[in-house]
Amino acid sequence: MKEIGLYIHIPFCKQKCFYCDFCSFSNREKEISSYMNALTQEIKSWEEKLKSYKIKSIFVGGGTPSIVPIEEMDKILEVIHSKFHMSESLEFSIESNPGTINKENLTYYLSNNINRLSMGLQAWQDTHLKNLGRIHTREEFLKNFLLAREIGFENINIDLMFGLPNQKMKEWEETLDHITDLNPEHISAYSLKIEENTHFYKLYEKGQLNLPTEALDRNMYHFTMDYLFDHGYEHYEISNFAKKEKGCIHNKVYWNNEEYIGFGLGAHSYFNKKRFSNTMDMKVYLNNISKKISPCVFEENISREDEIAETMFLGLRMMKGIHIESFKARFGFTPFKIYKEEISNFEKLGLLYTDEEHIRLTRKGIDLSNQVFIAFLPN
Ligand code: SF4
Repeated sequence: MKEIGLYIHIPFCKQKCFYCDFCSFSNREKEISSYMNALTQEIKSWEEKLKSYKIKSIFVGGGTPSIVPIEEMDKILEVIHSKFHMSESLEFSIESNPGTINKENLTYYLSNNINRLSMGLQAWQDTHLKNLGRIHTREEFLKNFLLAREIGFENINIDLMFGLPNQKMKEWEETLDHITDLNPEHISAYSLKIEENTHFYKLYEKGQLNLPTEALDRNMYHFTMDYLFDHGYEHYEISNFAKKEKGCIHNKVYWNNEEYIGFGLGAHSYFNKKRFSNTMDMKVYLNNISKKISPCVFEENISREDEIAETMFLGLRMMKGIHIESFKARFGFTPFKIYKEEISNFEKLGLLYTDEEHIRLTRKGIDLSNQVFIAFLPN
């Protein structure tokens, strides 16, 4: 049986964080019930197409899935468990934010096979949390993390961000210090990006955002790599670190350029040599689903040339890089047949490193990764 990953999007949040451009909105909790009904219908409609597939990972992301009441979450979990074949080693993650999890929902998740909890913290200092527009304090995070452990979660991710306005190196060190003391299985550490249509973007345009310099941002990142390595975390993807064998199976589906189906508002899929995505308009989504019309608004065929290029630049995001033999097994030739010149040029520039088994980014290559990825895009 072929394997596949599922992504389920929950677009509701208590409050919009100042940096966030995800498909999510606040103060629309009233729509949760009708949305979950539609989502259930959309998931059901894939039963036939996924009959010959085994689900290897499920990721309920958002938004803040943990604000969805249990009886609403139950609608989709019931369908998922009854309609699809699950892998014995299924990784089932849910995203959450401190202040929205409690004994009741955590116990419910665990007893419904959700075995991985992802918690958004971002920073250790309450001043930064407030300045980011987060809904919680560090104390609430701590309480929630310890509660999740007590209830039995043995696989927890913590999301962090560096390069924050007014953030000092010392504060980032303090964040990593406290988080590693808690010993989560997984840490995601992203550099803050100022995205259009966010509150931060407006402040940035007005010159009111005091961001760290590029050099400090890179120092923070390099410190993260060294510090987490010293604390037993494998740096397995540009922004992701994990204890042994705790790398996120679902995210590796994306980076290995494997198939996945996304359900819900704005969700993306890659299936049967096609990439497609759903509408981001709630009205259209609910209306289409009620009329049994697909909510998909974008679709593109992925040619073999596209697939080769995507496999290269997605695979290079992982620190072990492209496994040359696996690439050959997939396409019938090694990456050198098509990209000999690019690979050799980047090796000379010290951005790529090649040995008998892998092609991977060097430390310098990680900092200039976009420059490398662009070179593998189809013309
Ligand atoms: S909780 Fe997450 S999805 Fe919601 S607004 Fe904040 S960053 Fe965006």
